[in-house]
Amino acid sequence: MKIKFLGTSSALPLPRINCQGRQICLSKDPKDQRLRSSLLIDNRILVDCGPDVYTQLLRAGMPVIEAIIFTHRHGDHINGFKLNFKEPQTAEVKLYGPKEVFKRIRNEYKFKNSAHIYKNGEALDFDAFTVNPLKIDHEGLDNYGLLISTNKRLFYAPDIEAIPKITLEVIKEADILVVDGSILNGPHYGHIGIDRLLEIIKPLNKETYFTHIGIGNPPHKELVKYVKEKGGDNFNVAFDGMELEI
Ligand SMILES: [Zn+2]
Ligand SMILES: [Zn+2]
Repeated sequence: MKIKFLGTSSALPLPRINCQGRQICLSKDPKDQRLRSSLLIDNRILVDCGPDVYTQLLRAGMPVIEAIIFTHRHGDHINGFKLNFKEPQTAEVKLYGPKEVFKRIRNEYKFKNSAHIYKNGEALDFDAFTVNPLKIDHEGLDNYGLLISTNKRLFYAPDIEAIPKITLEVIKEADILVVDGSILNGPHYGHIGIDRLLEIIKPLNKETYFTHIGIGNPPHKELVKYVKEKGGDNFNVAFDGMELEI
């Protein structure tokens, strides 16, 4: 199963418009160009649907999307739906998410798609793999990390303020972690910070990638060096277009 990172930025993309002086915005490394955080699973299932979704799917060759799994209702995860998923072409796209997501997009857009409100721990079946949404604290919202399971298990949680004990127990069984890299030192607007997160997940000793990268971070190469020095060689930083086979 293939997981493609369509985007790896925090709420705003990088480099930011009119950003002056920040090293991460001045960088010429293509890995420092990041769109809003999103995954494409097996070229058919989308995780989150932020404002950059059209560009992201165009870059990915315009795959036919069968379903969207939303993690939470923040705009960087849902705002691409209203203006890009117009019926009749996209009427068959199945939607999965917490109640708050549908409340928010229904207020603006009366879509006809089937919308499944998932519950903590529920197993969502996508034939070749399952997805279990697992509660993650984030600005008091109904927010979930997604445990994607096939031969291997990958846990994806781009927005983390705290990891509830019960979720931490489950992700001990995961093979790969993809977690919130919004800022080095948190907490900051619902984001725990890379340093504190490293203290919690380093003992799990997993292949780990940071995503949802914010403007307060150093450029990609430096950030990779930083997380490897602090966490170990199994820590890394995701970038737009990166693919993992699980
Ligand atoms: Zn976010
Ligand atoms: Zn968020």
